Amino acid sequence: MHLPAAGTVGPSAAPASEHLYARARRVTPGGVNSPVRAFRAVGGVPRFMVSGKGAYLTDADGRRYVDLVCSWGPMILGHAHPDVVDALRAAAASGTSFGTPTPGEVELAEALVNRVGPLEQVRLVNSGTEATMSAVRLARGFTGRSKIVKFAGCYHGHVDALLASAGSGIATLGLPDTPGVTGAATADTIVLPYNDLALVDAVFSEQGDQIAAVITEAVAANMGVVPPLPGFNAGLRRLCDQHGALFVFDEVMTGFRVSRAGWWEIEGVAEGWAPDLFTFGKVMGGGLPAAAFGGRAEIMSRLAPAGPVYQAGTLSGNPLAVAAGLATLKACTEEVYATVDARAADVAGIVSTALTEAGVAHLPSSAGNLFSFFFTEAAAVIDYAGATAQNAAQYGAFFHSMLDAGIYLPPSAFEAWFVSAAHDDEAVERIAAAAPAAARAAAAVADPPSAAGAGGALTP
Ligand SMILES: *Cc1c(COP(=O)(O)O)cnc(C)c1O
Repeated sequence: MHLPAAGTVGPSAAPASEHLYARARRVTPGGVNSPVRAFRAVGGVPRFMVSGKGAYLTDADGRRYVDLVCSWGPMILGHAHPDVVDALRAAAASGTSFGTPTPGEVELAEALVNRVGPLEQVRLVNSGTEATMSAVRLARGFTGRSKIVKFAGCYHGHVDALLASAGSGIATLGLPDTPGVTGAATADTIVLPYNDLALVDAVFSEQGDQIAAVITEAVAANMGVVPPLPGFNAGLRRLCDQHGALFVFDEVMTGFRVSRAGWWEIEGVAEGWAPDLFTFGKVMGGGLPAAAFGGRAEIMSRLAPAGPVYQAGTLSGNPLAVAAGLATLKACTEEVYATVDARAADVAGIVSTALTEAGVAHLPSSAGNLFSFFFTEAAAVIDYAGATAQNAAQYGAFFHSMLDAGIYLPPSAFEAWFVSAAHDDEAVERIAAAAPAAARAAAAVADPPSAAGAGGALTP
């Protein structure tokens, strides 16, 4: 592989990434293995990363970035944390997959159950997508009903039945829906606006005896961060109880990130309610493919081989993924959460101040240590319609200025920002130094929202 020497490129040129992107596009659709990575929402050449350490990523051109994506959530300890690397090395030396039960799986399941009070049993899977797909199947199998209620802008992975008005990726690319998902696959999916409890109530009044489950993100964070309004999640719990439906709480992003357990620990504990099923992923895999779904034993025992609802996986509970997840959870102390919370607040404050000083209308939005910004004059964003009404072109300009200054932001205005416990004073100072110029770049973008962001249109 021929790559230009590091340190010889200008601030926005990325010759090595450009070269890799060209090769990638020949052998991979769009050059990437997950759409948002392609930078289509912000334009420009995606950066191909070659290494990460702590709060920093290094790209193929040798340029270093403060990472505010953190692999979309998993890297809560920062990249290449020594405990995780050591655990992986030890696990790899002992064999990478057996297709049998292993002690590590038991330990990880115990770690999850110990952190999340209402969890009695979990099943390990390989991705958040599998977790939500299996939770929906189990809810249908348990209740003997077929309909699922989900909310517009909530993303639960690329499960066919749940790819109706999904946020992440879909919002980014502006696709109304996706070809390949049949009407039959979504016929039993009812999509409602987020945070509108009255509509959920109305739907339950009409079709309550057919609804197997309501699935919601614990905090909607795949259309930008849109916190649940006070009483929304509790109201969903109540309606599910009244009508005999299961309440499925998708904590794939929030689980073990916004607190030791997740969002349920912040909201459900205080309000005295618990979901029937949880889904987890991201942090619990420590950067490897591990995810889980779980809940009360009464429900989980309907899964094969204990019960009739089929679910399986060749690599489920994989020794490497389990080792990375366990090492990550073990290192996620109260101190880690306090640091992540504080750093998230620091970065959100710095960016909001810079935008305000540059005269850029924006709405900082957060839930726990998840945060994002809507480029809008609206006083509140509570649903998908509000989230998509922002001026994403301004975000594109902000993004590229930050990128050139060595700050790696989510390449879409519709994603949460993530920090890690490794984001130290130096990392935060770099963000503070870069933010004012980026805010001025955003201010220079003409006002009317346009699909063509700074430096790139949303070409399919
Ligand atoms: C990321 C995410 C998923 C999907 O997880 P994958 O591992 O990407 O399949 C599901 N739900 C939520 C809330 C997520 O943020």
